Amino acid sequence: MTTTQSVQSVLLGKSLPELTEWIEGTGQPTYRGKQLYQWLYQKGVHNLQEITVFPKAWRAEMQDYPVGRSQIHHHKTAPDGTRKYLLKLHDGLIIETVGIPTEKRLTVCVSSQVGCAMACEFCATGKMGFTRHLQAYEILDQVLTVQEDFRQRVSHVVFMGMGEPLANIEEVIKAVHSLNKDIGIGQRSLTISTVGVPDKIRALAEEHLQVTFAVSLHAPNQDLRETLIPTAKHYPIHDLLDECREYVDITRRRLSFEYILLAGVNDLPEHATELAKHLRGFQSHVNLIPYNPISEEEFKRPGKKRINVFKQILQDHKIAVSVRYSKGLEADAACGQLRTNLIKKVEVDHAQPLQKMTK
Ligand code: SAH
Repeated sequence: MTTTQSVQSVLLGKSLPELTEWIEGTGQPTYRGKQLYQWLYQKGVHNLQEITVFPKAWRAEMQDYPVGRSQIHHHKTAPDGTRKYLLKLHDGLIIETVGIPTEKRLTVCVSSQVGCAMACEFCATGKMGFTRHLQAYEILDQVLTVQEDFRQRVSHVVFMGMGEPLANIEEVIKAVHSLNKDIGIGQRSLTISTVGVPDKIRALAEEHLQVTFAVSLHAPNQDLRETLIPTAKHYPIHDLLDECREYVDITRRRLSFEYILLAGVNDLPEHATELAKHLRGFQSHVNLIPYNPISEEEFKRPGKKRINVFKQILQDHKIAVSVRYSKGLEADAACGQLRTNLIKKVEVDHAQPLQKMTK
């Protein structure tokens, strides 16, 4: 159905005036624009046939018009309630989305690309290579899908799924505006996470969004960072940190640094001291993320004691720091893990085609 239509024409992602113009073009009165807008973004319809307030004949005629919704291809729930989804896009490609329920919140971890070109050593998505960028509507769809499945409003969105958001900055910014305006999630409840793409942090700052911004640093010096993040070779850590300082100057907002802790690699006391030197006086917050093992890699998660020592050194240097454990480890919650593991399982078990592995 949707593959035969131009991607540009899907309805999700369009603003109220754009939807109104579109619906007028189908011969419907202006007020139907607002109805369509509500049914798309609030009720989350998957096709126009579902919009029962519209004339029957029109719905029948329009039933195959592409709304822009994906299909849940597979999902898995961890004991802590975290749900991980594989969503099938209009062209058959598969992306990951995670729904994380905590007390009053429902956070969605969205993908911004199919695969990723950054190839970070510790990241499952990095092993897949890059296939394509997601369009803004494909990011919105992920949020609506989780909202529908949990029957609960999504309160927060983090761009920490597959892909590098700043490599797809235009669509990510479009998605941020629509998540805010059309789906109704406050900008401060949205987090964009990047490993750093030259000049893009400045470009993001110049958008003057109210979003939370996180930079995946993962190492306190250039040599070590390059061994973990291949693209860092073209983006020296001092340039990255300078651009981060500019971000703070332009937006007047603090940013977060993410730092994966890999046992024996970047978690030694001297690494913490070196990191503290870089970040002294910087309006920032450090999130330490104990490594989530992925089967391809030899890295190990450090023990609690090592993690606490690292944290204490940063605190002694007056640096705001917290430790963030990934939720839903059982649902293969690290970046790209469900897709990687599922595909592997299918390769081993040829008798069970991927399509049949639903819910
Ligand atoms: N490309 C962006 C966003 C995707 S990854 C970025 O790099 O920030 C989101 C976060 O998950 C990043 O901080 C990333 O480094 C981290 N991550 C990736 N693989 C991980 C793993 N195996 N264990 C723990 N965190 C991981």
